[in-house]
Amino acid sequence: MKRIRLSSPDIGEEELQAARRVLQSGQLSLGAEIPAFESEFADYLGSRHAVAVSSGTAGLHCVIRGLGIGEGDEVITTPFSFIASANCILFEKAKPVFAEIDPQTLCLDPSKIEERITPRTKAILVVHVLGVSCDMDRIGAIAERHNLFVIEDACEAIGTTWKNRKVGTFGRAGVFAFYPNKQMTTGEGGMIVTGDPELAAFYRSVRNQGRSAHDGNVFDRLGYNYRMSDLHAAIGRAQLAKIGEILKMRREVAEAYASELRDVEEIILPPGLGEDSTSWFVFLIRLSERFGPEDRREIRRLLAAEGIDTGAYFSPIHLQEFYRRQFGFKPGDFPVTESICERTIALPFHNRLGREEIHTVCEKLVSNLFARRS
Ligand SMILES: *Cc1c(COP(=O)(O)O)cnc(C)c1O
Repeated sequence: MKRIRLSSPDIGEEELQAARRVLQSGQLSLGAEIPAFESEFADYLGSRHAVAVSSGTAGLHCVIRGLGIGEGDEVITTPFSFIASANCILFEKAKPVFAEIDPQTLCLDPSKIEERITPRTKAILVVHVLGVSCDMDRIGAIAERHNLFVIEDACEAIGTTWKNRKVGTFGRAGVFAFYPNKQMTTGEGGMIVTGDPELAAFYRSVRNQGRSAHDGNVFDRLGYNYRMSDLHAAIGRAQLAKIGEILKMRREVAEAYASELRDVEEIILPPGLGEDSTSWFVFLIRLSERFGPEDRREIRRLLAAEGIDTGAYFSPIHLQEFYRRQFGFKPGDFPVTESICERTIALPFHNRLGREEIHTVCEKLVSNLFARRS
């Protein structure tokens, strides 16, 4: 039985050649690949500055610190995300204030944001979850009205657009990630984009131990080693060169899934289908309300037994033990998020997933679903 994997990076001859080029050069870090990757990324995105870092999480941390967000400050964000988008707020001892999501887009619900704003609120950290853009018009208007920063976690959304403009370019800063399950990968890695030259200079300094831009022996501030290596950057350049093709293949896989599952009443398809603005990260279906968490567990177990890997995205951030302990969150605080989180199943999804594999996954999913229902 051939396993159908949940995700799989698309590594070709170009990436191998890029890695070889760097290894043979002897300059494995702090070399020319980093500025080249940054400038190519900035061009692709349409942003003024891009700063490569060691991960998306590191990038988010730099952004929080660069805006001076710290103890006593609050940041409004979503509980339906990968935990790093809220942890970065905790790194600086600020408080994540969650707001409910829109059950259609699965992004922050703009109508639920203003009720969370207090005099301590400094920023709205939006997550373009699953490669679907948040409503940047409404969120931008709220931020302006209350004088707040907008930070974009675009780690799942490279190439996603809102009204023909790429996400990541709307906020004071945007962050991308290159872990192997993302649309493009460097192994580990991240990129911060911003239109603000001072913030860009700050990120360059803190990623490299807080070094001065003018004198490598002078340290202007507390910094970290959040550098990306040249090896990673070279692989990223090769991936970025074919990002259009990658996103097209992923869109085709998503549409193929949708055409197989569209008529299954018990399945709710993910947002963003049929829209050019979506950059497909994973294919996340939801079981209808008649199914509960035990049904999902059992269906996932049966699929695994048939060689089909699945995921459960996400586990609500506010219900993680250390968030509960620190902030007193409890089940029921964000009922829309919690109810959705209990019934999602991420299906195998990558660029080169074949039509037959997609068909097999859908067939097994639907037959297990029907067996469970009756
Ligand atoms: C992947 C991801 C991150 C973190 O990226 P890493 O590179 O793994 O640190 C942050 N936020 C979201 C929404 C993500 O999906």
